[in-house]
Amino acid sequence: MGFDFNSLDHVFFMREALKEAELAMKAGERPIGAVIVHRGKIVGRGKAEHLEKHSRFAHAELNALLATAQSLYDFPHDDAVIYTTLEPCEMCLGAIVMSDVVNHVVYSLADNWINPKPMFEIPHVQRHIYNYLGGVLEEESAALWTQCRPDELLLIREGHK
Ligand SMILES: [Zn+2]
Repeated sequence: MGFDFNSLDHVFFMREALKEAELAMKAGERPIGAVIVHRGKIVGRGKAEHLEKHSRFAHAELNALLATAQSLYDFPHDDAVIYTTLEPCEMCLGAIVMSDVVNHVVYSLADNWINPKPMFEIPHVQRHIYNYLGGVLEEESAALWTQCRPDELLLIREGHK
């Protein structure tokens, strides 16, 4: 059976990512979560863990990628999908590209502050990301930010002035 991006239940998997975001928020972190789906199953989860890991690199997507890095090593270009509650930053998008297996990105809330979209002008990025879909359960993701970091939500929504 071939891979069909459009037949995936994006809402179901984004709800799973939102559960991770909620856990992060309860730990005092930014409300960002991610899950990686491979062959229809969740194979890895991650959440923002800056305080937990005392690291500026402990982003939800990178944590999820690291959690799956070894088990997915033998599956290059095998159409894994990452679901993340905030559009990936340039570091995480770069890591997704370099993973060689996560070829599809579904995000909830667009990040107009970081805005990684110009990275798609890089041919190497274009060759590795086959789908880039935003806006799935966007209001649910924004609601978490409203609860804990409303000022940052404003920056995420409005971007640089
Ligand atoms: Zn990131």
